[in-house]
Amino acid sequence: MDEGGKLEVVLRVRPLTAEESAADEQCVAAVRSAGGGGPGQAEVVVTDRGVARSWRFARVLGPDASQTDVVHAVDARGAVQGARAGHSACIMCHGSTGSGKTHTMLGRLSSLEPPSRLAGLLPHAFALLLEEREAVRAAGGRQDLLFGAIDVYNEAAFDLLEETTPRLPVREHSIGGAFFAAGAQWRSIEGAADAEAALADASRHRAVGAHALNRDSSRSHAVFTVMVQTYPHGGATAAARSAVLVFVDLAGSERRKQTGTSGHAAEESAAINKSLLALNRCVTALAEAGAGVDGRPSAGVAAPRRPHVPYRSSVLTRLLRSVLDGPAQVKLLACVSPAESQVEHTTATLQYAARAS
Ligand code: ADP
Ligand code: MG
Repeated sequence: MDEGGKLEVVLRVRPLTAEESAADEQCVAAVRSAGGGGPGQAEVVVTDRGVARSWRFARVLGPDASQTDVVHAVDARGAVQGARAGHSACIMCHGSTGSGKTHTMLGRLSSLEPPSRLAGLLPHAFALLLEEREAVRAAGGRQDLLFGAIDVYNEAAFDLLEETTPRLPVREHSIGGAFFAAGAQWRSIEGAADAEAALADASRHRAVGAHALNRDSSRSHAVFTVMVQTYPHGGATAAARSAVLVFVDLAGSERRKQTGTSGHAAEESAAINKSLLALNRCVTALAEAGAGVDGRPSAGVAAPRRPHVPYRSSVLTRLLRSVLDGPAQVKLLACVSPAESQVEHTTATLQYAARAS
């Protein structure tokens, strides 16, 4: 992995969809390379009612970017290789509903051998993980992969690997302060077929569960975790390494108007905001902590005072605490739509991403 700070931002502008084009939606977000900004620097230009504003990021993926470009931009291979050495990583898709988060994270689910052109980041990561495991085996070692999928909705956790998406209590480990969803299913991933089935199940249960229980799935956060246990010398456990790779498809970041409806909707809206707001506060704290000279944590000088990060204040941040609070690399994949009707959401996401980078 590269040597950036703990938090890195990648921005993706999706193309207009066929429906949007058919509805004559105008494209108001464009990507152009920014001269003199160093390799990979690019600018996103948004035109809102005739006024153009631009934001510059180290990594920007435009409407022509492929799913494999995303895999490269977040250095998924680096994360997978890091996991072999015991380094954890977290990649989160942030953006308003319809901005392309699920397309980016999961995409079209099909065969992993090889992943299809439309397969998203997580299927690609599985393909890389299985490749990496072969390399560990070839070197005389062993690697175990366990996959879990949790939906966070209304400040509660639900198991996406179970047909009935049961609610799970979120507990704190007695040592170390990490939180976990107690009783979650962990599936052993032995090969491509296991990964394909697990992803298909999680995705289907998310949609079906939401429908059956009358939940709006765009309001839930899906947290996909791969536990990677590596035994470099096969059975011997002395040199064993463990790491987690966490992939999060966040709830839509747009604020819902509180339309004076009864308890359920209002409570839901507040609870979703609670997890997202708590995450935003954690991300801001991480961005501030990482902003040293050249955007790196400052070394040698007096250590900056660690800002208080309110991990405990929501279910989502509790579940993510071990990766947010530890040495893990965190990548924020901010997704935006270029459609004129979405310009306020697009601007809000760009502002958020700029603050985090
Ligand atoms: P979100 O999960 O943020 O609500 P989706 O991933 O469901 O958004 O995307 C909304 C729509 O846009 C879907 O129809 C999806 O297929 C399409 N879409 C999103 N990103 C892309 C992309 N990069 N290329 C083509 N279509 C995309
Ligand atoms: Mg989605």
